[in-house]
Amino acid sequence: MKFFEGYRCSRCSMEIPAGSVAGECPACAAPLLAVYDLGGLRRVVQREEFFSRHGGVWRFRHLLPTFGREVTLGEGSTPLIRARRLGARLGIERLYIKNEALNPTGSFKARGMAVAVTRLLDIGVREACMPSAGNAGLALSAYGAAAGIRCRIYLPDGTPAGMAEECRLYGTDVVRVPGSIADAGARLDAEAGAERAGVVSTFREPCRVEGKKTIGFEIACEIDSPSAPWVLFPTGGGTGIVAIWKAYTELETLGWLRGAKPRLAVVQSKGCAPIVRAFKAGEGEVAPWKEPETIAAGIRVPGSRAGALILAALRESEGTAVAVADADLMGAVREIASCEGVFAAPEGAATWAGCKALVGDGTIDRSDTVILVNTACGSRYRFLLEDR
Ligand SMILES: [Zn+2]
Repeated sequence: MKFFEGYRCSRCSMEIPAGSVAGECPACAAPLLAVYDLGGLRRVVQREEFFSRHGGVWRFRHLLPTFGREVTLGEGSTPLIRARRLGARLGIERLYIKNEALNPTGSFKARGMAVAVTRLLDIGVREACMPSAGNAGLALSAYGAAAGIRCRIYLPDGTPAGMAEECRLYGTDVVRVPGSIADAGARLDAEAGAERAGVVSTFREPCRVEGKKTIGFEIACEIDSPSAPWVLFPTGGGTGIVAIWKAYTELETLGWLRGAKPRLAVVQSKGCAPIVRAFKAGEGEVAPWKEPETIAAGIRVPGSRAGALILAALRESEGTAVAVADADLMGAVREIASCEGVFAAPEGAATWAGCKALVGDGTIDRSDTVILVNTACGSRYRFLLEDR
């Protein structure tokens, strides 16, 4: 049975049918969010059934936009590791790492692309394009190859060496663009046309959020403490934050939530912290950051098309936003590796640096449950470890 009903604009509430090729709101260009018949789902499916089955992202298909053939490379069902030795360094007893590095192509981007590429097949689109800081481009390339979809990726300067070659390995056309991911996005618009179907840029298609929502389902399945756990997420475009909050909100509406909803914490680099700045200033939207600079390529993102959604999720969850210095990132990579055996990407390690800052200023209590989301594998950033 299908419970997916279509999409709704996150700003003006315009409703878009399930099979539409529109990737964003035709009226106001805001992000679209998928809508489900939650009442119908609750009548037919039990909570235990929803959480009990194995099988990665698609095990949660009742709360995913399901179409025909589901594209999969085995994404999801990543481990939530109890980080005892790392936690002991700060005196946090219940510290966990959600290790998304174990996904296909080594990052959490796989979850979103599995669902986004499935949608493209369903609506009959056989070409896809997007700007990427690296990991999303790799994921789109791999899922595009598996689905027989032609891909074009716009990679900004500063993307780790080797990622372009790896994208080409999957058959993707790679365009290198000077500047940041915003410049890469502008080049895509100039060449591909903003209205074209097949654009899978962040928040310009509605299904990447749905795929990433499964991180929230998996955490909710394992952590059901009555006090709110902290979830620290390295944040660029912000799909992860929006997705986790949407997951918990849907579970709450269904009456399937056993523990408390989490408090969300955005972690950015001090060299590129548009969301942190907007959150602390009490803004309702995120203004672009001029001259973004950080070694963590995945969060060198000067703005977001979903600023209002991200800020709302932070405030509703009684969460926060913190910026960390680049100088602390590689130290955090080394600490996580040597304490826990996890080789995190600098973006993922930023959550540990952010955790220290938030414990230091009293925002996080040492008795809280804390989950660090390591979004990607560190091995593609090995060059940052040289001669240091
Ligand atoms: Zn709208």
